[in-house]
Amino acid sequence: MNNTYSSTPASKIRSVSRRFSYAFIGVVTLILILFATAAIIIDSSRINAELEKRLDNALKLSYISLPAPLWNLDNDVVDDFIEALFLDESIVFAEVVWGNQVISKRVRQKFQQKDASYFRQSSQFIDKISNILYEGNKVGTIRLAMSRESVKKELIVTILGIIALTILIIIAIALTSLIITKKYISRPLLKLQESASLIAHGDLNTFIDKSSSDEIGLLAQHLDDMRESIKQLFSELSESKEKIEDYSRTLEQKVEVRTQALARSVEELKALGDVSQVVSSTLDLETVLANIARHAVQLSKTDAGTIYEFDEDAQVFVPRINHGVSEAFIEALHESGLRIGDKTVIGQAALNRAPDQVPDLVNVPDYPLSYVHQAGFRALLAVPLLRKDRLIGGLVVRRKTAGEFPAPVVDLIQTFAAQSVLAIHNARLFREVEEKSRQLEAADKHKSEFLANMSHELRTPLNAILGYTELILDNIYGDIPEKIQEVLERLEQNGRHLLGLINDVLDLSKIEAGQLTLSLSEYSLGELVQTVSASVEALASEKNLELRVNVPADLTIGKGDEQRIAQVLLNLLGNAIKFTEEGDVRVEVVVSNQTFLVSVSDTGLGLSEADQKRIFEEFQQVDGSSTRIKGGTGLGLAIAKRIVEMHGGRIWVESTLGKGSTFWFTLPVSVEHQKESR
Ligand code: ADP
Repeated sequence: MNNTYSSTPASKIRSVSRRFSYAFIGVVTLILILFATAAIIIDSSRINAELEKRLDNALKLSYISLPAPLWNLDNDVVDDFIEALFLDESIVFAEVVWGNQVISKRVRQKFQQKDASYFRQSSQFIDKISNILYEGNKVGTIRLAMSRESVKKELIVTILGIIALTILIIIAIALTSLIITKKYISRPLLKLQESASLIAHGDLNTFIDKSSSDEIGLLAQHLDDMRESIKQLFSELSESKEKIEDYSRTLEQKVEVRTQALARSVEELKALGDVSQVVSSTLDLETVLANIARHAVQLSKTDAGTIYEFDEDAQVFVPRINHGVSEAFIEALHESGLRIGDKTVIGQAALNRAPDQVPDLVNVPDYPLSYVHQAGFRALLAVPLLRKDRLIGGLVVRRKTAGEFPAPVVDLIQTFAAQSVLAIHNARLFREVEEKSRQLEAADKHKSEFLANMSHELRTPLNAILGYTELILDNIYGDIPEKIQEVLERLEQNGRHLLGLINDVLDLSKIEAGQLTLSLSEYSLGELVQTVSASVEALASEKNLELRVNVPADLTIGKGDEQRIAQVLLNLLGNAIKFTEEGDVRVEVVVSNQTFLVSVSDTGLGLSEADQKRIFEEFQQVDGSSTRIKGGTGLGLAIAKRIVEMHGGRIWVESTLGKGSTFWFTLPVSVEHQKESR
């Protein structure tokens, strides 16, 4: 801060005293010069007057001395008188005239050649002429000229004297003023300037002379006040500077801590992301738990970790996954058979259903698992694995350096524990689902077997019933009354419906029980379509529906189960006629890419979007009186779908409610192997 003030060296300062002296001397000099000039003027006029007076006196003397001699024409006396007048150095010319005659004339040696007119005209001389009277009569004239030369000299001397005196006075005044201003103004000001300069350079304790009682003293007082306020300002400034430094230090520390925490969080998030990905991507519990244990150990900066699964039957913790420990250690853990409530960390964590830790094993000499300390571990942390308050295991991390596990680490391990719970739970669920689906599959198979057997068993007696009913109706056992005939006809009708149902159930059960095998052989789809169409022709014409068949004449021979394909076609055609009241029913076959594409279209009821999706499932019929009324089992399409799929084909429907439907199915031209349905 010293450099922030600029100061002018004392040598360059224009002294106040000098300036003041100059000004003072200037003014005084001017005044003195004016005085001197006035004095000179006065003096010169005074000398002039004196000169004139002297000349007048000489003339007066002439009045007295010259009348008689002139009257008497005593020239010698006149000459003597003139001689006497010339004793005055100033008189340079004298001339006495009687009548027109100059009777006496005298000129100073210096002006020998000059005549009276010269003295009259030159300003250097005073020239006077006077008449001499004797008893009232003019007896002559006298002309006197006096030189101003002597006066001039006198004047010069006087002027020189005045000038010398003036200079002396000026010098005296200058010196006095210089001394006074120096002593009372300049020096105290310089001192103040020095003090101010020192203050400016940071010396706030410098001496300030306040002894003077004048304005400079006041200035010194103000400077002192200013110094005090600067001092105070400085102390406040340094105080706030310290505060700012303190603040910035704490800020830096905070930023550092936050940065570290952030880095840690990022690392933890990455690890958790990794773990979550493993948890969701694999059902292999070992892999998931190993991943969790590894991350838990790494992020908690510990050396080893174990994930236990709690065996509810045996009520012991079984170590499932270990990280960072030897085989012998794992063996020892297995043998220890840890239980809830043991004095171990995991036993305590399980008992309290909360994390438990041992900051230093050295302080717990009676810790149950002595081999833990022997393996070099000092600090232990355990977190129970809980799912809806049910204990399913525990996660333990071990560190070789002693010290308490801080809250963030405990939280972190708890997060990993939660992931482990999820993984174990998922694995258990998966095991359960697998088990259940196995059971379900077996039950399904049993059901299908049962249905197949039962249908088979039902079919034989039903066929017999139908056969005998037909024989009775044909009057083989004699004539029957009309009433009984009607009953028997209804019996036959219902029996046939039941047989159809039983046949369908049998087919489906066989398929589901895996008992239905296709008998693959060569067949002509064209002929097959014709045969099936012919068999339903009567039904169509009964309802006045046109049945149109469009099959290419040169259709390739296919390979498949002809009978089952006929069953599919029969079902589709049967449905088309059944659910159509007017219009036509069409069957079309095309072949491309070694695939037959068969379509059965009608102009009947049509199907809603929702119904289109479910009619291929078992026992699904479209709700509504019209379809229910038309009978059927709701199994036909389900069976058709299975048969088509067993051939490696696909079946679907396109329909608009109220306008008709088109059922499509594909079949590979040549089916070599039976495919799995569903
Ligand atoms: P169902 O023996 O009842 O005919 P399906 O499995 O063959 O059994 O058909 C299931 C249901 O699909 C039928 O009950 C009917 O509601 C509907 N359905 C099948 N074919 C057609 C069609 N061509 N037009 C309208 N509805 C149909």
